[in-house]
Amino acid sequence: MGVRRRTGLFVLQVNPILCDGFGHCAELAPELVTIDEWGYPIIRTAPVSLSDTGAYQSARYAERGCPRQALRIQRFNEK
Ligand code: SF4
Repeated sequence: MGVRRRTGLFVLQVNPILCDGFGHCAELAPELVTIDEWGYPIIRTAPVSLSDTGAYQSARYAERGCPRQALRIQRFNEK
């Protein structure tokens, strides 16, 4: 039994209707999220490899930590 490697990509997505703009996600996933001048998130749009476990863990923290449940991790396969 070997180590299972994660394959594929992910992006973190925000629902702007739900987001309140308190910027908590930028604290939880600073490598994926910055904040605009009004406090709303600007999320990295380039897909990230699931093998980047640090970034993926941060995305999961942000997804779970968003008080408005406005964040979702979208996973997809590499082409
Ligand atoms: S934590 Fe959620 S509600 Fe707060 S800025 Fe980020 S996406 Fe918006």
